[in-house]
Amino acid sequence: MLALKQSTVIGVIGAGAMGAGIAQVAAQAGHQVKLYDNREGVAKSAIEGVAKQLAVLVERKKFTSEQVQQILARLHAADTLNDFSDAGLVVEAIVENIDVKKAIFDTLESVCAEGCILASNTSSISITRLAASMKHPKRMVGMHFFNPAPIMKLVEVVSGLATDIDVATCVYETALNWGKKPVYAASTPGFIVNRVARPFYAESFRLRQEQVADCATLDALLRGAGGFRMGAFELTDMIGHDVNYAVTCSVFEAYYGDFRFQPSLIQKDLVDAGYLGRKSGQGFYSYQ
Ligand code: NAD
Repeated sequence: MLALKQSTVIGVIGAGAMGAGIAQVAAQAGHQVKLYDNREGVAKSAIEGVAKQLAVLVERKKFTSEQVQQILARLHAADTLNDFSDAGLVVEAIVENIDVKKAIFDTLESVCAEGCILASNTSSISITRLAASMKHPKRMVGMHFFNPAPIMKLVEVVSGLATDIDVATCVYETALNWGKKPVYAASTPGFIVNRVARPFYAESFRLRQEQVADCATLDALLRGAGGFRMGAFELTDMIGHDVNYAVTCSVFEAYYGDFRFQPSLIQKDLVDAGYLGRKSGQGFYSYQ
């Protein structure tokens, strides 16, 4: 199967950090995109957010204002999942919870045409498990973008046991057409990047818990001496602690409680307090 044609309608579910970015990427690639969120007004605000990001890119001469108008004209806030009946690919980017995701794919199977590819942007949840209760599990695939989706090149194309190789190939080729650098991965907990990244976060959080140094010092060291683009504290503040903690819990559980993936108590405290990072104005750092 080749890449999706530009005329294919793309559905994106969840208009948070990732969904908005993925919708932007697909619209920039020339597709009509429908963006849905179950919180009223959120999809519309997300598109307004994309418009602001694109305005900055016009100032930086990456796009002309005509191009931006065309991109924005291709982005539509959907009122209900029924609007996805003409989609050829739907990418789900909602909360990292298997039961909530399964419920969405249940509904999508009753709404979308049989040829529509159903993809999840999950960071850690088994694609095999997501597909297991589906009527047509062959069309289920992971399409895992990184944050921020319009900037980060990598996309993990994740196959579960039932995923059709043609479906994975189509998503891979489509990601290439969208200017991304896709890699194939088998569906193991956390796939590639989120598995490798867990010990990086865990050890950083332990350093903080043992009061070895403050967050700013540790982040500066990881950047300056370690060569990382971001330290663990600023990075998880950007990702969102609710998302990052849920991913760690999911990987920890999937590896039968392997200590390497043990969730951090200081991160759990942040989640319990509602200190979710940049999106809530407070995480390890304050953004107010
Ligand atoms: P987010 O909290 O920013 O956004 C999630 C959105 O989904 C919210 O707007 C919420 O209202 C909506 N939502 C929740 N349940 C819904 C439902 N049943 N129907 C429709 N909309 C619903 O989260 P995010 O950071 O965008 O993460 C979304 C997914 O992407 C997760 O699976 C996460 O693991 C994955 N992911 C996140 C990152 C990251 O850095 N944040 C990176 C890669 C992948």
